[in-house]
Amino acid sequence: ALQVGIVGLPNVGKSTLFNALTSAKAEAANYPFCTIDPNVGVVTVPDPRMDKITTFIKPQKVIPTTMEFVDIAGIVKGASQGEGLGNQFLSHIRQTDAIVHVVRCFDDPNIVHVAGSVDPIRDIEIINTELLLADLDSVEKRLQRIEKQAKNSTDKKLKAEVEVAKKVQEALGKGLPARSVTLDEFEMPLLKEMHLLTAKPVLYAMNVSDSDFAAGGNDWTKAVIARAAEENNKTIMICSAMEAEIALLPPEDRADFLAALGAEEPGLNRLIREAYTLLGLQTYFTAGEKEVRAWTIRANTKAPQAAGVIHTDFEKGFIRAETYHCEDLFNYKSEQAVKDAGKYRVEGKEYVVKDGDILFFRFNV
Ligand code: GDP
Repeated sequence: ALQVGIVGLPNVGKSTLFNALTSAKAEAANYPFCTIDPNVGVVTVPDPRMDKITTFIKPQKVIPTTMEFVDIAGIVKGASQGEGLGNQFLSHIRQTDAIVHVVRCFDDPNIVHVAGSVDPIRDIEIINTELLLADLDSVEKRLQRIEKQAKNSTDKKLKAEVEVAKKVQEALGKGLPARSVTLDEFEMPLLKEMHLLTAKPVLYAMNVSDSDFAAGGNDWTKAVIARAAEENNKTIMICSAMEAEIALLPPEDRADFLAALGAEEPGLNRLIREAYTLLGLQTYFTAGEKEVRAWTIRANTKAPQAAGVIHTDFEKGFIRAETYHCEDLFNYKSEQAVKDAGKYRVEGKEYVVKDGDILFFRFNV
């Protein structure tokens, strides 16, 4: 499963956020997995389209799709050189596909800041420097190894790998993340194979007090938003303490609580969706009277591979997909009406599934 790592300095609200994410999940019906270990939580991906589908096709069961969050503790200044938990945290981040970087944008005299004061830009730089140094170290080690090999070899891939590693090394040397390096289609997968920390997409989660959340931010969030824009990264504002409270409320009280805050949904839902998008993920649905279910695919997935997410046999024996878009269902209100309007289609092996498609697969067994 695709994983999002939650990183940040100590005492910025990572665990509070992680616990809110994982306790909210426990409420979801038909939850197909369980918590893997204390630091990994499986979270259902909230999708308003799914609720809407169930108002037209009334199923016995509704099964949302899921993704995983990992609480990565232990990054402090000097971590890449072995400070704190040292390199232990790095191996955890390497396994993740994207990063949510929590930054402290709240002041609270009772909660010690590891660097002595609230300064989210400095915090971002501390963490990013550690990730960068760790990458520099691993790229240099790799280069030492593959440059020698490439000299005595005609292997094109190996030579290309050396070129990519050099480009990355140069960028890192200038303080730029690996993701900032421009690469072509052939080089991209080579970068991926290096499992670099600064190659992963980042979302900054700005943790604010509930009053600043209501006010729409503060000077610290403004600074983080400006910094993120320079880096081409996205931001999201959350109040993790409040999210933790909301997650603990019985579902029937949640709507009232949110309404009192002037919010339509918990901030966690926005965070999960943003992380999902950050991973380049999309959703298609299967919908029948028995069950409406959401499935996760990467963007640009063709119908047989989309079917393979349900079962490998669906992909192997794929014949065709019958499909319409959920927006068609919302417009025409029933599958029959969608058919009558000529919006129900038959698609073959080359069909690229779209986000929000409702699909039925025909296959040989
Ligand atoms: P971590 O070390 O980054 O995992 O931080 P924690 O989630 O353990 O939070 C550290 C302390 O900050 C805890 O005492 C939390 O209750 C508190 N905290 C977390 N988020 C907020 C917040 O939004 N506002 C305030 N005032 N305190 C918070």
